[in-house]
Amino acid sequence: MMSLSGPECVALIEAMRQTIEENRDRLSQLDATVGDGDHGINLATALTAAVDAVQQLDQPSPQTVMHTAGSTLINDMGGASGIIFGSFFRGGSRAFKNSPAVSPAAAVDFLRAGLAAVQKRGKAQPGDKTLVDALAPALAAAEEALQDDSSLPDMMHRAAAAAHAGASSTTAMVANVGRAKFLGERSLGHQDAGATSMALLLNAWADFLEHQ
Ligand code: ADP
Ligand code: MG
Repeated sequence: MMSLSGPECVALIEAMRQTIEENRDRLSQLDATVGDGDHGINLATALTAAVDAVQQLDQPSPQTVMHTAGSTLINDMGGASGIIFGSFFRGGSRAFKNSPAVSPAAAVDFLRAGLAAVQKRGKAQPGDKTLVDALAPALAAAEEALQDDSSLPDMMHRAAAAAHAGASSTTAMVANVGRAKFLGERSLGHQDAGATSMALLLNAWADFLEHQ
């Protein structure tokens, strides 16, 4: 698939929900080692509400779908990360403007605007052991794919692979923000839950493009 329409974005949010649901317990376990163990359930529940909300849009556009999903996460998701994940979708949605379909260039703009919104809200830098450590390398990989004239599915696969590598790299990091920072050095040796779920979301996006 070379681009993504508004109705396809609705189906994409459902695909993301399904991936997070399948990984819900693992994500909560990752959060339990350094946080309070609620991340998987938080994100799965909030994405269920987001699916409901986007399915009710009439004439959904890529922008309204991502904006609505983001607002739902901000309003409905417990924990600090609702605001962070919601900011990713809502901030990213601005990149879609009024365009009826997501092109490869627009997908890069989405990731760039999403990352900017996350950092504006949460103040996390690369290396702080958060989802920024998955999202920043994903953006870099997508930018590189755009330079290579990659297709949208290939671009998102490269972005997702970079996000997974970034999430893995958080194991060796000491948390600097969020709940895990209170653990200091003890957060070493555990992969960050939010970085893991960000990688899973981008992977769901890549797989969706391939199988649609
Ligand atoms: P809470 O920490 O409130 O229980 P969750 O467990 O749902 O929220 O999410 C925890 C995840 O949120 C962390 O693994 C981290 O990736 C992400 N996170 C927390 N604070 C920030 C922040 N300031 N910036 C970016 N990501 C953050
Ligand atoms: Mg938590």
